[in-house]
Amino acid sequence: MTQDASRTGQPRVRSAADDADVIVVGAGPGGSSAAYHLARAGLDVLVLEKSTFPREKVCGDGLTPRAVKQLVGMGITLEPADGWFPNKGIRIIGGGVRVELDWPELSSYPGIGLVRTRRGFDEIVARAAQRAGARLAEGVTVTGPVLDDSAKRIVGVTARDTAAGDGGPERSYRARLVVAADGNSSRLSLAMGLRKRDDRPLGVAIRTYYTSPRHDDDYLETWLDLWDGNALLPGYGWIFGVGDGTSNVGLGLLNTSASFGHIDYRAMLRRWLASMPAEWGFAEENQVAPVRGAALPMGFNRTPHYTSGLLLVGDAGGMVNPFNGEGISCAMESGEIAAQVIVQALARPDRASAELALRGYPQALKDAYGGYYTLGRKFVGAIGHPWFMRFATRHGLPRPALMRFTMKLLANLTEPRGGDAADRVINALSRITPAA
Ligand SMILES: Cc1cc2nc3c(=O)[nH]c(=O)nc-3n(C[C@H](O)[C@H](O)[C@H](O)COP(=O)(O)OP(=O)(O)OC[C@H]3O[C@@H](n4cnc5c(N)ncnc54)[C@H](O)[C@@H]3O)c2cc1C
Repeated sequence: MTQDASRTGQPRVRSAADDADVIVVGAGPGGSSAAYHLARAGLDVLVLEKSTFPREKVCGDGLTPRAVKQLVGMGITLEPADGWFPNKGIRIIGGGVRVELDWPELSSYPGIGLVRTRRGFDEIVARAAQRAGARLAEGVTVTGPVLDDSAKRIVGVTARDTAAGDGGPERSYRARLVVAADGNSSRLSLAMGLRKRDDRPLGVAIRTYYTSPRHDDDYLETWLDLWDGNALLPGYGWIFGVGDGTSNVGLGLLNTSASFGHIDYRAMLRRWLASMPAEWGFAEENQVAPVRGAALPMGFNRTPHYTSGLLLVGDAGGMVNPFNGEGISCAMESGEIAAQVIVQALARPDRASAELALRGYPQALKDAYGGYYTLGRKFVGAIGHPWFMRFATRHGLPRPALMRFTMKLLANLTEPRGGDAADRVINALSRITPAA
């Protein structure tokens, strides 16, 4: 029996026409995390993923302690023998200075990071969701929302079996709630009228792989300033050892930079790498993958995160950390938060009460990241100015205490309660900064 909430005032309980309690669109880290936690709570979850695993995803492949915590929480074992390459912290290079900062040892987060290419990573996380009971349909591309009689609320999605080659016939899947975890472009959000916000930061980043003796580097190396001879290039760069004979090398640029939109990223990468020591091997003959790029949607650049039966998770909701370009942990954390909210909402006795619970999702995200992301947007505005980068790298990097503070701030690694002076200052700053 369908009890459509808009007509009865009762909760829309699972009907015979429903294909699942919840449909999750996209099996990246955000969608798989949501699916895992929903399935663990006993809900029937259908995940629709347009690609088939294993598949590539353009990324730096760097996993901070926040991402490690999420993986551990999903029961995923992280043995080096299984291809997880551990690291101790970050190395920051800038202003002629080079500083290594170990991940802080905290009660809330492990003091370890990892590198793993997305080719293996996304499949492992998706399979963990499957093992927890989620149903995963690969090679199924979602084409749009199915709306209720009011034409406002999403009650399912239309999709095509793209694995079939010609796309096959379109069919619809129905559920009580839908999670958009379909990445930066999030066509499903767009179809529901949720556009990207222009007042939020956006980055563009590219990456490639080289066989390199630096493949076993146990620090995530970040370059704050990129040089081509005496010329300072806009943007930041990274060299992450993958531990398999290759290094992931890439660079990014924020839309707060004057050069954004006018730059040849590939040429900039070539010019930056040409300044590196030859023995690192970052030359054409050692390049083992094409240069590929994608956008980094930051600081909640698509809102609201819940509306009319649809919850946004990860890049779909613009959740990349504006301080460091990290998006995997935020995608997984928001997946878990969304699942907790959905589980509570679907257990409520009536529609109004369920909606109240669902409206708690944007609030929970604001509580978790809002103030911190607002700080991040200001940070991003500042680093778009070359004078700030010159000042910060010259005066900030040599001071170890300041840099430890910076590391905790950039990676959002603080004890939620108590902690040291740096933890307390960052938490207080995040709390008093409006969660806009
Ligand atoms: C160059 C670059 C480097 C980066 N480096 C790092 C890094 O080192 N560390 C880090 O933490 N983050 C990094 N990021 C950010 C990170 O890649 C993203 O934030 C993260 O992948 C977001 O996860 P997600 O699950 O939200 O989305 P995605 O990983 O984009 O997953 C979305 C999924 O939805 C599927 N999908 C899309 N449309 C449909 C549809 N219509 N129907 C069905 N399925 C669909 C896609 O196939 C995909 O599997 C980087 C990004 C870039 C571009």
